[in-house]
Amino acid sequence: MRALTLIADRKLELVELAAPAPPGPGEVQVRIKAVALNHLDLWGYRGMAFAKRKLPLVVGAEAAGEIAAVGPGAGAFKPGDPVVMYGALTCGTCKACREGRDNLCENVGGIMGFHVDGFARDLLNMPARLVIPVPAGVALRDAACAPIAFSTVQHMLFDNAKLEPGETVLVHAGGSGIGTAAIKMAKAIGATVITTVGDDAKTEKAKALGADHVINYRTDRFEGAVRKLTGRKGVDVVFEHVGAETFNGSLLCLKRGGRLVTCGATSGPTTTINLMQLFQQQYRIIGSFGASLRNIRESLAKMASGLLPVIDTEVALADFARGLDRLESRQVFGKIIVHF
Ligand SMILES: [Zn+2]
Repeated sequence: MRALTLIADRKLELVELAAPAPPGPGEVQVRIKAVALNHLDLWGYRGMAFAKRKLPLVVGAEAAGEIAAVGPGAGAFKPGDPVVMYGALTCGTCKACREGRDNLCENVGGIMGFHVDGFARDLLNMPARLVIPVPAGVALRDAACAPIAFSTVQHMLFDNAKLEPGETVLVHAGGSGIGTAAIKMAKAIGATVITTVGDDAKTEKAKALGADHVINYRTDRFEGAVRKLTGRKGVDVVFEHVGAETFNGSLLCLKRGGRLVTCGATSGPTTTINLMQLFQQQYRIIGSFGASLRNIRESLAKMASGLLPVIDTEVALADFARGLDRLESRQVFGKIIVHF
């Protein structure tokens, strides 16, 4: 079977590997059909010093496929069922796992495609407890965006920032995979959405997704624009993932008691914050990473009801690196899908 492996920083190689053994007890075998790309893949591809991993590594952190075979005691799955997979090897038994807070697992065995072998291969065996059925009517290319992109946004906006109908949210990088999802999910509950984009061509696209106000952060200081748009009050929630370039400006956009939720630092990981401002303004800063199995089910349910991911580009497996280059270029509007 084919597998796409990272053999060195920025070097991918498509190799032939032996197909996995038949699935063991509690396992299913999944035939991968679509892999969605995320910034996580880019970190792995560039080679991040903090990532403990062994090369070669099968890439791909977010995917959808079909059940190929079912092991003993693996539940109600049957061959041909469309599924997505949780992308981290959680233990399933610690307190966090038992309470459904999967992304806080105390014994996590690594993120697939980043620390351990990922999904960019024809077949793999997975614990059935980490495999989630895709509802009827949802295409696999869309479902492939549920395990990381959609569920991360679901977890950030609703579990962590507790965004409510009628509130205002600032979504950074509205053209990114998670930015596009955040605009659509926030609008779907009746929030007002202000978003930032890096070029004018993306302004109309963001408006078409439902964004109420779009700021080109290259031509306009977004802090000032947000204060103006909110009558100097500020927003209830900031959806952060840009990091160093925007973090302090994001805090200035919050109203008193506002919530900033962050899941990324694409422009750099380090910043300083004014602690006086933090406590006087009673800000809440919430770190968010990954999501729970429940968030993936919620994401798929949203897709089934018509809230679909924005797809920027679809490429073949051989063009995985081209997809990563496009992601890195910041030219994207939405998700990049790699088909098998
Ligand atoms: Zn656990």
